[in-house]
Order: sequence, then C-alpha cells, then structure tokens
Amino acid sequence: MRAMVFERVGQPLRAVQRAIPEPGPGELLLEVHACGVCRTDLHLLDGEVTISQPPRVLGHQIVATVVGEGRRVGVPWLAWTCGRCRYCRGERENLCPHARFTGRDVDGGMAQFAVADERFCFAIPEGYPDEQAAPLLCAGLIGYRALRMCGEARRLGLYGFGAAAHILAQVARWQGREVFAFTRRGDEDAQRFARELGASWAGSSVQAPPEELEAAIVFAPDGALVPLALRAVAPGGTVVCGGIHMSDIPSFPYVDLWRERSVRSVANLTRRDAEEFLALAPRVPVRTKVTTYALEQANEALADLRAGAFSGAAVIAL
Ligand SMILES: [Zn+2]
Ligand SMILES: [Zn+2]
Repeated sequence: MRAMVFERVGQPLRAVQRAIPEPGPGELLLEVHACGVCRTDLHLLDGEVTISQPPRVLGHQIVATVVGEGRRVGVPWLAWTCGRCRYCRGERENLCPHARFTGRDVDGGMAQFAVADERFCFAIPEGYPDEQAAPLLCAGLIGYRALRMCGEARRLGLYGFGAAAHILAQVARWQGREVFAFTRRGDEDAQRFARELGASWAGSSVQAPPEELEAAIVFAPDGALVPLALRAVAPGGTVVCGGIHMSDIPSFPYVDLWRERSVRSVANLTRRDAEEFLALAPRVPVRTKVTTYALEQANEALADLRAGAFSGAAVIAL
C-alpha cells in the first residue's frame, strides 16, 4: 500500500510502499477513504509533541470502511486506553497515562489501509460524505469537549478560527450561544467566514470584543492569546486552551485572573465525547468546509495548514 510516513523531526513526510497491516485480536482492518489533517500533525513534525518510535504513519481523523464488511467507521486520536487506572475507571480515559494515540503511538490514516482497535472506532453519521466527515473526528470532537468545559456560558469567544472553531461556531449557535471570533490581525477572510457561520462579531485577537465574554476557547497555539482572552472574559469566566501544544504563556497581572476567572486545558477525548458529538453533529447539522489533497500531497496540506492558506479543514482523500 501507499503511505506517508514521519521519519524524523523537521523533515517532510516520505511517500513509501508498505505491506498492508495485519489486524491483531480485537482490531479491524480498514480501507481508508479520507483522513483529516490536524494542527497536532504540525506539532509532531516539529517535535513539539514526541513520536517515540518512528517511522510512523500520521493522521488521526480517519474515515474508512471495514475490509470484508463495508461498514463505515471513524477513528479518532484516542487509540487505546488501559481500562484499569484511576482515570479510566473515573470516566476520564482521556488522561490515561498508558493511553496510545492514533498517528503518534500507532500508525494512522495517511495510508491506503490502517488497523484500529474496534472499541475505539465509531459509526460515522449518515449523510456526511467521507471528506466532510473526517474533520468531525478531532476538530469536532475535541472542540466539543472544549465547549463542554465552557458550561452554560452564553457569550463565547473563539480564538483562532480554523477547523475546530468553524465546527464549534455552528454547534454553539445551535445551542443558543452568541459567538465572538478572534483571528490573526487583518485576516479578513477568516473573519468573513466566521460571520457567515453565525458569529455576531469577528475581529483581531488584540481587539476587545464589544461585550464581555462569559467563556473563551483558545485554539490557536499562541500562548500570548491566553492573557488577552482572560482580559476579555467577565468575572467567573473560563478560558479553555484547546490544543495539545502552545507557545509559552506570558506573565500577566493577577487582577486579570481575580474574580474567579479560570484558565484550563483540554486534553484528548473520551469515547463518550465521540459518541455524544457524532450523535449531535447531524442534528445541528454541522457542515464542514474542507480542502482536499491527494495522499502524496500530504506535505502540501501540512504547509497550507501552517500558512493558514485555506478556511475550514484540510482532508486527504484516497
Ligand atoms: Zn487532532
Ligand atoms: Zn488507563
């Protein structure tokens, strides 16, 4: 089969021919049809998140059919958990210290075939073409977990309007929340896109929103956004950091945190997050905007993601 493989930090993925993987006990052999590209893949390429045993096939938003059955499934970032630790037993398997992740600890979906533990595969809602479904599997469901951490906040800020925010804006509007979108200075395309998706205000991240926010989610990997977001939220508000890696957060005066504001991160996902979000998405209904690339164009997709060259999400179509 054809696969795009990570070999070393700082080097582009390499196109290789590999044997089709053999499924072990409890695993499914999957024919991949689409695989979303995620900012985490850039962090892996750059060594900000470590791949301990390269070479590795990246890609953790896999839409595939089960070979021999034809049933369509999605494979997310969470590939395996121990089931025994206090986190697994306490409905927080996203924090399992033994967890393995798709496209980091086990091979992912930037290949014609993949294997996955059946317990961590999910039915893809009908009505979504493969390419449109792929971004639901990380941007959507980790974004959904971040949104849940915002509680009942009605005025929601989204910092960084990429794949996750374009999905979350639709969910938040459907839930009756008001969305404020913050983008890079002068990124008028992203601001227009946010307004099209129902944001009541869109501007640059250094601007103050017209009203105080009740919560904010920071998707962009820029730590300098955290104090800005804290300053934009009202007393009692939460700032949720939605990414796996962020540049250092600069110091800020305590008064910006005081009055029971909080800053927290969101890590990975649980299977419950996936089940809930994949049931919710078609009810909204969430529509994803995707730019598709061939498998051999994976490096181009990653470069375009880094450059902010498209709005919505990048997906590799096989
Ligand atoms: Zn991801
Ligand atoms: Zn565990």
